[in-house]
Amino acid sequence: MPEALQSESGWAYAPAPETTSITIEDRYGLFIDGRFVAPRSRRRFDSINPSNEETITSIGEAGEADVDRAVEAARKAFRTWSRTSPLVRAKYLYRIARRIQERARELAILETMDGGKPIRESRDVDVPLVAQHFFYHAGWCDKLKWAIPGNLDPRPVGVCAQVIPWNFPLMMAAWKIAPALACGNTVVLKPAETTSLTALRLAEIFDECELPPGVVNIITGAGETGRHLVEHPGVDKVAFTGSTQVGKRIATACAGTRKKVTLELGGKSPNIIFADAAIDQAIEGVVAGIWFNQGHVCCAGSRLFVEESIHDEFVRRLQHRMSKLRLGDPLDKNTDIGAINSRDQLEKINAYLDCGVEEGACLNHDSRQELPEKGFWCRPTFFTGVQPAARIAREEIFGPVLSVMTFRTPEEAIERANDSPYGLSAGIWTDKGSKAFEMASRLKAGIVWCNTFNKFDAASPFGGYKESGWGREGGRHGLAAYLK
Ligand code: NAD
Ligand code: MN
Repeated sequence: MPEALQSESGWAYAPAPETTSITIEDRYGLFIDGRFVAPRSRRRFDSINPSNEETITSIGEAGEADVDRAVEAARKAFRTWSRTSPLVRAKYLYRIARRIQERARELAILETMDGGKPIRESRDVDVPLVAQHFFYHAGWCDKLKWAIPGNLDPRPVGVCAQVIPWNFPLMMAAWKIAPALACGNTVVLKPAETTSLTALRLAEIFDECELPPGVVNIITGAGETGRHLVEHPGVDKVAFTGSTQVGKRIATACAGTRKKVTLELGGKSPNIIFADAAIDQAIEGVVAGIWFNQGHVCCAGSRLFVEESIHDEFVRRLQHRMSKLRLGDPLDKNTDIGAINSRDQLEKINAYLDCGVEEGACLNHDSRQELPEKGFWCRPTFFTGVQPAARIAREEIFGPVLSVMTFRTPEEAIERANDSPYGLSAGIWTDKGSKAFEMASRLKAGIVWCNTFNKFDAASPFGGYKESGWGREGGRHGLAAYLK
């Protein structure tokens, strides 16, 4: 990294790196029945920092016998946890939330080191939302009678197998664990293989908060470990967040069993800009929609529809704004665009960049933007002149790559926006409340943002239509997945 980045006005820009002086062990075990244990599989793998390719630490890979052990621990704990008074459960969740706040800085640093996202995001978005999720669900523990209309005696489901992706490692863990515990279930959670460290840190927090052993078990490993877990006969509920491809495999594996299944899958969400929108705000919304977390966001606004009359002006301003985004060291507090999570993901994104060019679209990025020598990087990019049938307009890229298209009428905007196998989120930018309302009711998307994008709240249910998944997470609706 250059010592100081030169801005156009000639002012030097001093680096502002967050320190990395947090404790990281040389090796981690699996968290089963309230203790860290060595994997019976005797296999281990490394977690690396994607911004410099350095090994951070070694983690255990859970094999079939380890999955058995974790599910057994969760089963045993379920007998008492499910009968623990709701007020006591609430106290545990509240205590966990407080401890997350107290250890927030450490969690943010570790999230950024292990996953590559800018510290600005892990510090100001991920970790606060993680604490919020535990606080919010603490409040539900003794009010579950009012969670599902007509069900005055809701019961926990049992042992929950939870498998999560790498884009919001800690947040996805909180979204899964907090409602499960609030409803009296026990958990075996498997984080993604590239980002296990903050989930293991969460295990330390559970231990500090004296959560009874076995209530939450955290087992690390890759897809095979996940498969053993979701296919385990001792599991009552499967909650999966990840790709549509793996989601379909899990749905097939669970079909015909008594397991309750929820799936939060991929997306290719539209962000729709009308000519009457506040353009500067809309530009910021597009930035937040596609370049937040390097575009590793299931609900990213990756298809931009701009009303034809303002297309050229909008694209010109977007280009200008994009060139101001700072790419580099994720631990630097000035950084807007961090590292791509893994080499695999970078290769996937690069293949889409080639594909877009071959499909005849026009690639725009700021080639003056220097990329660090080590690590996995992709400049913020948008394509103009994209055909609606192009692969870059239809398939999830899961990177900082936006496809720009146009429309002439609200009717055409709805038709094009809904023309997707996915239906996770949508953004609408307009000055007219009535137009926003009409659009929102006709877009097939689980979440519709008006004049904003990528805003999350524990009280607001999140989830998709069509190939974006089954079920909702968060809010009152999210509790249904964890109750009988
Ligand atoms: P992925 O499906 O490859 O992996 C997700 C998790 O599943 C990982 O922990 C992985 O180890 C595990 N896994 C892999 N194969 C498995 C199998 N056969 N059985 C059980 N578990 C298995 O997805 P990814 O690349 O890690 O994440 C990116 C995807 O996640 C994107 O498609 C994104 O849209 C989606 N996502 C969706 C949401 C949502 O809420 N809808 C949120 C975040 C990410
Ligand atoms: Mn990592």
